[in-house]
Amino acid sequence: MKEQTLALIKPCAIAKHYQGLIIHDILEAGFEIKAMKMLHLTTEEARAFYVVHKEKDFYEPLIKFMTSGSIIALILEKQNAIADYRQLMGKTDPKSALEGTLRKKYAVNTRHNAVHGSDSLENAKKEIAFFF
Ligand code: GDP
Repeated sequence: MKEQTLALIKPCAIAKHYQGLIIHDILEAGFEIKAMKMLHLTTEEARAFYVVHKEKDFYEPLIKFMTSGSIIALILEKQNAIADYRQLMGKTDPKSALEGTLRKKYAVNTRHNAVHGSDSLENAKKEIAFFF
């Protein structure tokens, strides 16, 4: 059965004009783009989106980064979309990401790591509802 996941292209990737390349890679990997929009998160919105990390030491810098510029939100659809998009993204730290993954190709470091993808069916539903 087809599944949907929420993907974000983060401000660092937009600043480097990587959005076209990232969307190309997503389509090449067999995902259908069901919805897409560019937006600039407010601090409140970014805090709400990353609320699970609110006790972490990287929370405030993460919020600052995610509100530093525009992002692109996408609903991606394919069979096994959640796990397959996590695989296409690569590890959180681009140094550990496999060759060919979005983070290996387009990320700078663990914070400026180019893309986001939902990590479970439950979170995909919540995150899609958050943006669309
Ligand atoms: P993801 O699912 O791979 O995006 O990773 P997480 O959900 O664990 O973390 C959310 C985001 O917080 C990551 O994409 C990073 O931008 C940031 N982040 C996570 N862990 C760290 C960390 O140890 N250091 C820093 N600076 N940022 C982190």
